[in-house]
Amino acid sequence: MILALVEQDGGKVNLHSLEMLTLARRLAEETAVPLHVVVIGQVVDGLGAHGVTAVHLAEHDALDDYAPAAWAECVVQLIAAERPTAVLAAGTERGNEVMAYLGARLGVVMAANVTAVSPGDDYRVTRLRWGGSLLEEAWLKGEPKLLTVAPLVIQAETVEGGAVEIRPFTPQLSADGLRVKVYGRTQPESGKVTLADARVVVSGGRGVGSAEGFAVLEELADLLGGAVGGSRVATNLGWRSHTAQVGQTGTRVAPDLYIACGISGAIQHWVGCKSARHILAINTDPDAPMVTKADYAVIGDLHEVLPALIAELRQRIQSK
Ligand SMILES: Cc1cc2nc3c(=O)[nH]c(=O)nc-3n(C[C@H](O)[C@H](O)[C@H](O)COP(=O)(O)OP(=O)(O)OC[C@H]3O[C@@H](n4cnc5c(N)ncnc54)[C@H](O)[C@@H]3O)c2cc1C
Repeated sequence: MILALVEQDGGKVNLHSLEMLTLARRLAEETAVPLHVVVIGQVVDGLGAHGVTAVHLAEHDALDDYAPAAWAECVVQLIAAERPTAVLAAGTERGNEVMAYLGARLGVVMAANVTAVSPGDDYRVTRLRWGGSLLEEAWLKGEPKLLTVAPLVIQAETVEGGAVEIRPFTPQLSADGLRVKVYGRTQPESGKVTLADARVVVSGGRGVGSAEGFAVLEELADLLGGAVGGSRVATNLGWRSHTAQVGQTGTRVAPDLYIACGISGAIQHWVGCKSARHILAINTDPDAPMVTKADYAVIGDLHEVLPALIAELRQRIQSK
């Protein structure tokens, strides 16, 4: 059996878990074994359409929110009972964190950010390294095989699924395993889309010049129903909150349109925005990597280009 850890929040399955299930299902089909999932805290619907035949639902009073060591403990106990050949999770912060705990608990290696798997006694895996700028071919050993699937690489597919059996279980959890958990949540400003979900992201870098300089980016993002992001320079200088950072050590985004304003396009930033369908760079330097790699570029001062763009957009909206 292949076991996949599905992340849910309020009963809604995380998109990257669905991408991971596509690879998990293909692996289960290739090795002729069933695909089971483990869900923690709350049952989710619709998994049959992703090839899942059974859901192991971990139920415990202390599992009302994310707790990495406790989540790993649930999976450890399930592995002992069900003996899966491989355990997969999405290569999200949570997925990688839980699988790292799991690897440590089982004394088994874990391959993070995998994009393809050829099964065998050992698995041949391809995985993203250096924020996606390098593809590594590696052999994955161990029993069970532990791996996470790189987000935004594999398209989530649905199949004609059958009935899904729900198998609740109550894990034994120690107080130690619950030391790290979510103690509170802050909601984003109401009405604003989040960076990860936005179809348009307007991002600013050092070229914006100041925290106040972001007002024009906010205005454009509002007009397009998008979100504002930033480079690490913009967040390190305190112009934007760290949650707005796009890149290797920030959020990876995949909007329809990414507008990079005053951002040079260093590799650590590029890996966070390269999955956008279209990229528009606004930069004074025609040789900036962001300009040379973008689909469209405007060479000029963003503080002149953006107001002109906003004025033109407003005029078009009004004349509709
Ligand atoms: C381990 C590691 C992880 C990292 N992770 C990240 C990450 O997650 N995200 C990230 O962004 N960076 C990350 N970085 C930093 C990254 O290497 C770059 O330093 C950073 O992305 C540069 O930010 P920037 O493009 O805003 O600034 P700069 O590189 O200084 O570029 C500024 C750009 O603005 C242009 N410009 C200046 N004035 C104007 C103007 N008036 N109008 C238009 N254009 C103008 C310039 O021509 C230039 O191209 C990481 C670095 C390391 C080592």
